[in-house]
Amino acid sequence: MNQTDVLRGSCLCGGIAYRVQGPASHASHCYCTMCQKQHGAASGTYANVARAGYVVERGAELVTEYASSEHGRRGFCKVCGSTLFWRSTEAPDRIAITLGTLEPEYDGPVQRELHTDTKPRWLPVR
Ligand SMILES: [Zn+2]
Ligand SMILES: [Zn+2]
Repeated sequence: MNQTDVLRGSCLCGGIAYRVQGPASHASHCYCTMCQKQHGAASGTYANVARAGYVVERGAELVTEYASSEHGRRGFCKVCGSTLFWRSTEAPDRIAITLGTLEPEYDGPVQRELHTDTKPRWLPVR
């Protein structure tokens, strides 16, 4: 997969399908406590893409947003709960997509960890 290719993704139930125009940038594992709560996991993993290239091809009526802060909006499927994106109303030109919803698997590197101060102590396998 070339970095500038179209990326495709879907939610767990398959009701929502989307495509985005690459390249995706700033891929990161975010360990903030809001990502942990929303994902039910150690982190949320996202990469930024241009908002203009984000297209919901199926199930737009299922995409639900939760305002997790004054400017933050977290998109998810109202049927299966899959987390789809994070966006800020202060930066309407871009959107952060969840790498775990991409098909085929994202093949770029994840280069950053965010909010490591709240990275769970139980995360490493030992
Ligand atoms: Zn779904
Ligand atoms: Zn976060």
